[in-house]
Amino acid sequence: MAGFRALPSVDQFLQSDAGQALIAEHGRAMVTDAARAGLDAARAAIRQGASGDDQAARLPAHVASELAAATRTGLRPVLNLTGTVLHTNLGRAILAPQAIQAAASAMAAPMALEFDLDGGGRGQRDDHLRGLLRELTGAEDATIVNNNAAAVLIALNTLAQGREAIVSRGELIEIGGAFRMPDIMARAGTRLIEIGTTNRTHPGDYEEAIGAETGVILKVHTSNYRIEGFTAQVAAPRLARIAAAAGVPLLNDLGAGSLVDLSIFGLRREPTVAEAVAEGADLVTFSGDKLLGGPQAGFIVGRRDLIAQIDRNPLKRALRLDKIRIAALQATLSLYRDPDRLAERLPTLRHLSRPRDSIAAQAARLAPQIDALLAPIGFHTASCDCASQIGSGALPVDTIPSAGLRLTGQGGDAPDRLSARLRALPRPVIGHIRDGSLILDLRCLDEDRDLLDALAAL
Ligand SMILES: *Cc1c(COP(=O)(O)O)cnc(C)c1O
Repeated sequence: MAGFRALPSVDQFLQSDAGQALIAEHGRAMVTDAARAGLDAARAAIRQGASGDDQAARLPAHVASELAAATRTGLRPVLNLTGTVLHTNLGRAILAPQAIQAAASAMAAPMALEFDLDGGGRGQRDDHLRGLLRELTGAEDATIVNNNAAAVLIALNTLAQGREAIVSRGELIEIGGAFRMPDIMARAGTRLIEIGTTNRTHPGDYEEAIGAETGVILKVHTSNYRIEGFTAQVAAPRLARIAAAAGVPLLNDLGAGSLVDLSIFGLRREPTVAEAVAEGADLVTFSGDKLLGGPQAGFIVGRRDLIAQIDRNPLKRALRLDKIRIAALQATLSLYRDPDRLAERLPTLRHLSRPRDSIAAQAARLAPQIDALLAPIGFHTASCDCASQIGSGALPVDTIPSAGLRLTGQGGDAPDRLSARLRALPRPVIGHIRDGSLILDLRCLDEDRDLLDALAAL
């Protein structure tokens, strides 16, 4: 029983230097609760035969670590070493410093969001982006909403509520989670008219389906899968001619929608937004946080009269962007005015365009250091080849040669065990399991230090 006397009371702990320091950081209420829990645990340990003096000496560190764990949130920075650059579950694009700066300024002070600084009258929040989007896409006009799913929803609802929307069967895709094209179309109030077959759709299929009830022809980029073999789709320019002849608008949902030709980074050539506009689509929709490399947003660019109709739709108010993202988007889009320095300034493009050799050199440099950190917990580290992916449904079957670290341990559950430990770190390290090893693809690791520091907490 004598052991208990070595322990302070809750009040004594709060008055101590350690207690005061913790109160300064976490506040009295949190520290009081943690101290109570810590003292309960210490008493339980003493009852099991532990020494009171030891328990008393350990109390401050114990309370501090409980408080650190309690205040640690799931929404903390992780290292994305999955090999998927635009990982939807890890928040997709990370922003350029210019965009972060712009967002921070927008958060810290009032800004002329819907205020015309020249005339002093009312302005429109989308005006801050409209000019840039026109310039970068060649479109007549633009409007911006919460994300690309919202862009598709409001565009369909505006053009074809209570009317028909024609889509090729091969383009009725599920993007993931609850985003299935047919469901979005139903919620937009349109009647889906499926044409063609899964693998082949012809111009005549569209022409036959168009009638008095047709509100829109929808073309969807089949982002996350590719049909190969005996296939036929109607190319956008041909479809635009069919739509124009019938007087029906053509909406082209590009999904990832790049503003620059990705082949300059060694990736497969995909139509850019400007090309989709030039090919004659009346409206083109694309995401802000996929290949564009900005914050979450959905863009609709195209014909001025149709954009004006969308802006008058009451849904626009429900789907509009806040000032923080508008500021970040403006800064991000501005970077596109200098394409030569884009890959250097925009993290998404920097990561996508990193040459394999530079990543392999980083892996060779890090392997012995990581091996030394992981050997004590029974894991061996070697460098290895990797195949990165863009992610977010962009170019799904294409991989980019990359390099990384292969972490192997004893036992069939070794990769799962290590993966769980790395996820539990103060800065979690997220890899992927392949062939019985945990693989860390280093494509998105900017600094060696980041990984070494994260693993040092093991
Ligand atoms: C990703 C994607 C969407 C959804 O975009 P979000 O910005 O995630 O809402 C819609 N259509 C296509 C073709 C896509 O690839």
